[in-house]
Amino acid sequence: MTAPLLEARGLVKSFGDNQVLRGVDVVVPAGSVTCLIGPSGSGKTTVLRSLNGLERPETGTVRVGDVHLDWADRPGTRAVARLRDQSGMVFQAHNLFPHLTVLENVTSGPVLAQGRPRAQAQEEARELLARVGLADKADSYPVQLSGGQQQRVGIARALATTPRVVLFDEPTSALDPELVGEVLRVMQSLAAEGWTMVVVTHEMRFARQVADQVLFLDGGVVVEQGPPSEVLVEPREPRTRQFLQRLL
Ligand code: ADP
Repeated sequence: MTAPLLEARGLVKSFGDNQVLRGVDVVVPAGSVTCLIGPSGSGKTTVLRSLNGLERPETGTVRVGDVHLDWADRPGTRAVARLRDQSGMVFQAHNLFPHLTVLENVTSGPVLAQGRPRAQAQEEARELLARVGLADKADSYPVQLSGGQQQRVGIARALATTPRVVLFDEPTSALDPELVGEVLRVMQSLAAEGWTMVVVTHEMRFARQVADQVLFLDGGVVVEQGPPSEVLVEPREPRTRQFLQRLL
């Protein structure tokens, strides 16, 4: 069996005296979709942000590809930046630069952070914009787009640095309900293309249809994990059952 693309072990993280991760493991095979679900405050976002060093756990290890960090060693900024370069992140609110065009937003990572030639980055950015259905919006400014379109630009931007894994932090939860579908459809097509994705989500239908594995978190631990056909349809743990029932 090939080694998983991403492997986090024993993540422990506190904010002050609030221990929010109590030994979390996340193992993600290449080309797979992992959904993190669970009640608000269970630690999902903190797990996701720990996978790219936006949060620094006290202990635990993270490996993405051949980049490995042991948080107990208190890695420096350069080591954390190397880990961060392995992933693209899509935030709940898209975080686009308002003063840059859509095209400039998508090329900012490859050009400014990675030093790639502008012309090449622009060509690739146009391809990415076409993939998310926004080929005709390259010269628009974020404010001229709907929330769903902005979030699709956010996805194109996350892909522009050709990360090994794309991390999504509740990518549709800030959207009006009628705009959710277009973003989920783009995510589904990325999954079909073989992108490796980790997604914090409340969209159970998406998780059921697209995830290869679902991790249910509660109180800073992974209570249950497995394929959606098990975790979401026939959960073993009472806490998982309770959580799913509350969503009905
Ligand atoms: P979820 O994504 O499951 O809603 P989070 O990972 O966002 O959960 O948060 C888990 C816990 O950590 C919550 O109690 C939250 O209040 C706390 N927390 C998250 N980020 C911070 C922070 N920067 N400072 C202090 N507490 C935080």
